[in-house]
Amino acid sequence: MVMILKNTKSGKDSKICPYCGMIVDISTHDCPIKKRKNNKTAKENRINQRDTDRELTSKRWRIFRKQIILRDGGECQRCLIKLHKHVYTDLTVHHIKPRVKFPTLMYDESNCVTLCRECNLAMGLGGIDFDWDLTKVKIDLDKDLTF
Ligand SMILES: [Zn+2]
Ligand SMILES: [Zn+2]
Repeated sequence: MVMILKNTKSGKDSKICPYCGMIVDISTHDCPIKKRKNNKTAKENRINQRDTDRELTSKRWRIFRKQIILRDGGECQRCLIKLHKHVYTDLTVHHIKPRVKFPTLMYDESNCVTLCRECNLAMGLGGIDFDWDLTKVKIDLDKDLTF
């Protein structure tokens, strides 16, 4: 919540900056605290991206990915649920909560859904835009699958 205070001297609306807590003109305020926080977030995102990118080449991910796709019937769930069509090619595993923000959910099956490349690109880091049935997302990760 941001409080709006009338600044009678300049006639402008001033606000309390949520980062530094000072009363400022929010349109011109160049907040050093906010800058520092954003830099830190950007750095964390870069590290998470790098680490999880590396993980994408691992055997663990290869097996997990196939299990997710099998669970989802080998087809794009967005095309199926939202667009009512079957797409079985160019499949990817999409992280509903993105890897750069939630690297610990990389192998969380309830965070993963099979999408075709087109849908994956369309969703980007923005979650999903269709109803996802959480009751059917459980998979047997201990099952020994050979591919
Ligand atoms: Zn500030
Ligand atoms: Zn699709």
